[in-house]
Amino acid sequence: MTTRSSAGTVRAVHVLSAGTGSIHMEHRYGSSAPQLWWVLFSRRWVQVPINVFVIEHPQGLVLFDTGLDPAVFTDPRYVDSAIGRFFMRRLFRLEPASVDSLSSRLATLGFRAGDVQKAIISHLHFDHVGGIGDVPQADLLVSRTEWNQLDGLHPERDFIFREHIRRPGARWRIVDFQPTNDRLLAPFGGCHDVMGDGAMILLPTPGHTPGSLSMLVHVEGRAPLLLIGDLAYEARSLMTDQIPGTGDRDQLLESYARARGLKAGLPGLEILPAHDSRAKSVLSRSAEVELSARTWSPDP
Ligand SMILES: [Zn+2]
Repeated sequence: MTTRSSAGTVRAVHVLSAGTGSIHMEHRYGSSAPQLWWVLFSRRWVQVPINVFVIEHPQGLVLFDTGLDPAVFTDPRYVDSAIGRFFMRRLFRLEPASVDSLSSRLATLGFRAGDVQKAIISHLHFDHVGGIGDVPQADLLVSRTEWNQLDGLHPERDFIFREHIRRPGARWRIVDFQPTNDRLLAPFGGCHDVMGDGAMILLPTPGHTPGSLSMLVHVEGRAPLLLIGDLAYEARSLMTDQIPGTGDRDQLLESYARARGLKAGLPGLEILPAHDSRAKSVLSRSAEVELSARTWSPDP
């Protein structure tokens, strides 16, 4: 196992439910049918949570993704383009009752949106950037490749809505990954140390979108975490090369292999997707283990 050159850790990681939706079975588990066919004709839906991760770092509160904007339900023109609205209805079933503002969700954990120092955006899909208006003071970190998609011809056709991303005053910070000699991280081709102490490391993991990133988090007193956004919809899919129905197949397979390589070098690493219902139980189970370890450790 590699010894880390800087051994920072975060104090805790929480998962916040930012709503619930459903996607087609073919979307989640892949299909031999053409994508347009299942988008238009599939009647098989599977429910998925929308997770936001809240990270307590000694220097401040950090989010990994920000969830849905409740305005997606109340504003009929939230999606500007007609084709975007058409495909959105066919790809996603969102449950309005399950969505509240990011500020309100954070308050349920005892946090204030005003205390968020940084929000890491795994990729620019609408269900990951919907809460950025609640944290105008926060630096919003996104990879340069992902950001460049905004200059494409029709990013809205890929559920990237410029008008909700380039908000006035939004503190976007574009991440350029730096080369690394770390044996575990080098296969990713670069990394970015969020706080400069090694506690949170951003890694390029393209496939779901060209600029998708993941974050390796070293947590005090427990095994590390790899937050992967939508790279896979379940950790199990990543471990078994089960490719979802969207994204770049070759890039997904490469990113899956790199994530598995990281897990091999970091025993106990937990992989947490943004839409995996296991996230909450994984984190609470870890907290229980941690608590029982503390209960049983002898006094110094
Ligand atoms: Zn996505």
